[in-house]
Formats: sequence, structure tokens, C-alpha cells
Amino acid sequence: MRLENKVVIITGAGSGIGKQTALIFAREGAKIVVADMNENGAKETVEEIESQGGEAFFAKLDVCNREQSKQVVKDTLERYGKIDVLINNAGINQDALVQKMTEEQWDKVITVDLKGPFNCIQAVVDAMTEHGTGEIINVSSIVGLYGNIGQTNYAAAKAGLIGMTKTLAKELGKRGIRVNAVAPGFISTPMTAGVPEKILEMMKEKTPLKRLGQPDDVAYALMYLASDEANFVNGAVLSVDGGLLI
Ligand code: NAP
Repeated sequence: MRLENKVVIITGAGSGIGKQTALIFAREGAKIVVADMNENGAKETVEEIESQGGEAFFAKLDVCNREQSKQVVKDTLERYGKIDVLINNAGINQDALVQKMTEEQWDKVITVDLKGPFNCIQAVVDAMTEHGTGEIINVSSIVGLYGNIGQTNYAAAKAGLIGMTKTLAKELGKRGIRVNAVAPGFISTPMTAGVPEKILEMMKEKTPLKRLGQPDDVAYALMYLASDEANFVNGAVLSVDGGLLI
């Protein structure tokens, strides 16, 4: 198994990409901390993992809350004694054209999508340093690389996450901690469920592979980065977009 006995915290694992990643990682032998503020979704993820014979527990987490981030780390260490992988996946979007975007929309998206990962990273770094190894993977977006109309807040947060990834890859590498990012294109999840069909069709048409991504597509890229197979991969931003960015 590719992730045997790895202890993996996945934020936002109650839905979409995070949920699918949790299920796939558990099948590869990882012990999953399903960290989400969506309690129902997260508990369903835990039940599904357990019903397929895997191991997981639910940790209530709003990534904006620094105390909760520290508590999740404390609970994980009490239960498993180490943290191998942190996947900063929780994220939201609140779209509007720039003149219509409210300060609340700006602040909320920057806080969840950019400060949230920072909070979780700060909370795990000591434990990973002590352990002498660790992998942190940030779920950015194609939008952080090439922008998107109506997503000033989201694009800024996701581009900021790439800057954070590269900085921490330099800062934490000497402690044995790798820091990488994935940049998904358009993936079929509850987040994109509200996007008008016309826009999704346009995105499919622009994508060389002529389809939208599925949560599995991102989960397998995350699995590679989380596994020992990626032991010399650090500071990378792996696009998972069917070639849309080309
Ligand atoms: P999703 O289905 O909406 O799942 C996101 C999960 O994060 C939900 O369970 C959500 O809970 C949770 N969450 C939201 N705010 C949180 C907070 N403050 N603290 C903890 N958990 C929180 O979205 P997804 O499409 O799987 O997206 C996962 C990640 O991929 C996000 O970072 C997103 O930006 C990124 N991404 C997605 C796409 C795409 O096309 N789907 C493309 C590029 C990047 P609630 O359900 O209660 O809100």
C-alpha cells in the first residue's frame, strides 16, 4: 500500500475533493483525520472509510480558528503520536465583479482560503519538525495561476497560497518537511455545482482532454505528492487541469 500507516490530516474532507482524497488515501493504508466544519459531511466520510475497513476520525475544524487548528493537531498526536501529511484542502468562493465585491466577501475568502492554511501549517510544524519528516500539500487552483473574471478574492488567495508554498518549501526543507501545491482546473464538486452549464461547457471545450475533472483526478495527484515516491519533490505546483492552462 502506498500510504501505509501514514497519519494524514485533510481539511474540508467532508465534501468534494477532500472527501474523495480521504477515501482513496484510506484504501492505501493511511489513517485519516477528517477535519471539517461540515459536521454531517465529515461524519459520512468517516463512516464510509470505516465501512471499507479503513481508519479515520472526525475533528471539528473551522480553519479560520487558530485554537481549533491547534486542538486538531493535539488530538491527532494523542491518538496516533505523529502527523505525516497535512492537506490544506478546505476552501470557499464568493464571486463578484470587482466593483460589486463587498469587503465581507473579500475578507471571508482571504481568511478561509489563505489564512486558514497558514493557521493549520503553523499548528503542525512543531510536530513534523520533531518527527524529522512531513509533507504539507496546499490545494490552490488554476485560478491562482491565470486569474478568472469575478474571482478577485479567490484568485488572490490561491495565488498567495502558491507564494506560501514556495516560501515554506525553502524554509522547512532542512527540517525534512516538503511543501507542495496542486492547482486543479474545473472539477465536478458541490463547489462548481452552481456554475452555469454554459460556462462549464465552455471550460470543457477549452480543455484539451475535453472534460471536467473529477475529485479522483485531484486525489491521485495528492496521493503522489503525499507518498514517499515524491521524496525529492519540494516547492512544486502540480497542475491537474486536463491541459487547460497550456
Ligand atoms: P467543496 O465540495 O465545497 O468542499 C469544501 C469543504 O471544505 C466543505 O466540506 C466545506 O464545508 C469545507 N469548508 C469550508 N469552509 C471551511 C472552513 N472555514 N474550515 C473547514 N472546512 C471548511 O469544494 P471542493 O470543490 O471539493 O474544493 C476543495 C478545494 O479545492 C478548495 O480549496 C477549492 O478552492 C479547491 N479547488 C476546487 C476546484 C473545483 O473546480 N471544484 C478547482 C480548483 C481548486 P461546507 O460544505 O460546510 O462549506
